Amino acid sequence: MYRCHCQFIPADVLERLACDPTLSQELCKNAAYSARLTQHLLDIRLQTEKLAGFVLENHNLLKLGDNPEVSVFDCKRTQSLPGLQIRTPAESSDTTVKRTYVETDHMATFLREVFKRNSIDDAGMTLMSSVHYGKKYNNAMWNGLQMIYGDGDGELFLDFTLGTDVIGHELAHGITQYTLQLDYDDEAGGLNESMSDVFGSMFRQWRLKQDAASADWLVGKEVMGPVTRERGYTCLRDMSAPAGEHCLAPQPDHFRDLKPGQDPHYTSGPPNLAFCTACKQLGGYSWETIGKVWYQVMTTAGLVPRMKMADFAARSRQAAGELFGNDSPAQKAVDKGWKKVGL
Ligand SMILES: [Zn+2]
Repeated sequence: MYRCHCQFIPADVLERLACDPTLSQELCKNAAYSARLTQHLLDIRLQTEKLAGFVLENHNLLKLGDNPEVSVFDCKRTQSLPGLQIRTPAESSDTTVKRTYVETDHMATFLREVFKRNSIDDAGMTLMSSVHYGKKYNNAMWNGLQMIYGDGDGELFLDFTLGTDVIGHELAHGITQYTLQLDYDDEAGGLNESMSDVFGSMFRQWRLKQDAASADWLVGKEVMGPVTRERGYTCLRDMSAPAGEHCLAPQPDHFRDLKPGQDPHYTSGPPNLAFCTACKQLGGYSWETIGKVWYQVMTTAGLVPRMKMADFAARSRQAAGELFGNDSPAQKAVDKGWKKVGL
């Protein structure tokens, strides 16, 4: 059994699909392949995380530039990383290449304009993406250095670059790596996964100019393939209803239901619901209010790899007071969000 790190589709979902007798042999085989491939990318990520920790502790004050470069590489369905660099991705006739460039560039703008953050590491780190990775690879991931996107098999999952929340989710793992450095197990792991859903979802809403009330709060909606849709799954996760039957990977929606050793893709349910509840309670654009509170905690708490959910909740209540005033509607909304999930 391997530990899964920061890939979009949880390992147990792929394993479940790999053993599903109602699916064709080819789909099962590919789901198993996708699950195994992820395992081999894990070691790189753990090493780069250590490097990021060292850089943070040694106060790297220099920066590459004011805006990060965005580069896109084509793996041409091989597993050779990073692949061939596309010189002018913005003009590519390959829609995956072009979309990846455009959306990653938007993510850089989102971080800069909304959070005053200069790329993932706040030092202008080049945002590198490899597309068409592997053959029908059913996943996307941040490997600690770059983004990797599979094409999906076209039946269970579609091209992973179709989801702006997928792009935002994976890049946010990079931000966590350069801020809180949350571990990937227990409560810290749930917070780690939740940070990525929170920023992925906010980025998707920002692209669509949706406020908290009009957003659907679904994660992975755009990458669900026809076979998963046929079975009634409209998303991977739903931040507003984590336990919903329409979720391919339904989650606990209350803190008391979390169990030790649970995969972070499941323990992220309560903090996801807390964030979504707070945003809906307050109204308006998530990234202008509650998102700023979450970001404040992320960037001011220092390195807290073993952070507990109650600690994040307390810090976010405090941050809401600092940013918007004590007893402000924003602080009350944050409080309501955490109370809903028992924190
Ligand atoms: Zn993740």
